[in-house]
Amino acid sequence: MSLEKSEAVILRMFNWSESSRTVLFFSREHGKLPLVDRGGRSLKSKRGRLQPFARMQLTFYSSRKESSGYISDVEIVEAFPLDKEGTLGRLAYGSAACELLYLLLPEKEAHQDLYSYLLSYFRKLSEIDKKFLPALFLAFFLRSMSLLGYHPSLGYCSGCRKEVGRFEKNDAKQMFSPERGGIVCPSCQKAGERYIGLSADGLRLLSSLQQASLPEAAVVPIGFQEATNLVETLAEFLRFHSGLVSELKALEFLEKLRSSQPG
Ligand SMILES: [Zn+2]
Repeated sequence: MSLEKSEAVILRMFNWSESSRTVLFFSREHGKLPLVDRGGRSLKSKRGRLQPFARMQLTFYSSRKESSGYISDVEIVEAFPLDKEGTLGRLAYGSAACELLYLLLPEKEAHQDLYSYLLSYFRKLSEIDKKFLPALFLAFFLRSMSLLGYHPSLGYCSGCRKEVGRFEKNDAKQMFSPERGGIVCPSCQKAGERYIGLSADGLRLLSSLQQASLPEAAVVPIGFQEATNLVETLAEFLRFHSGLVSELKALEFLEKLRSSQPG
């Protein structure tokens, strides 16, 4: 066992007894990192408290022989107040990001760009107007997938690479094939293949959010129904391309997003 330090945020926790649990962290230096938390839930514990949606300095024991090490100490570096004003909405979008990364990140492989990006996302999430939350999340979803090697083709036909602008007809829906990984133009469509129809506006929005920085996305208003459709389209795409079929079928965050709908 060796003592190590790393900065990290919590992706998920699994309780396995009154006092102990396994915590899945996203750490700057080690990527997805499972650590056992022995007795940390006890009120008598003198150790620093774990906190969701916060940057923490972790001290932990790691072992080459055992699959997971365990937490020695925790210190909060920066907390992101997603529950101020009792904002269920912000918490749902924060949990959605954590769930997505929990599913997609490979274990113990550093992804420092994505780590920094997640922190920027949490920061924006805690400060912007609620009506911009869906666009911010979609931009996060698209960029995280890209950084992990999943890049849906939204500006070009995924068959012949023709630009979408060259086969767009008035306001006809564009066909997205989760299996082929993007938009399919009329000449490349095949009988029997399953498509998700995206409105011209919806596709333009998704395509621009794929290129957008978080500050750029944080000023785009999207209707809730449109946002849910676009998130579901991306989740369908991932089901085909990530090998995480059953896990993504049960995406809790889609349910949470639905239930966080205002009004
Ligand atoms: Zn084509």
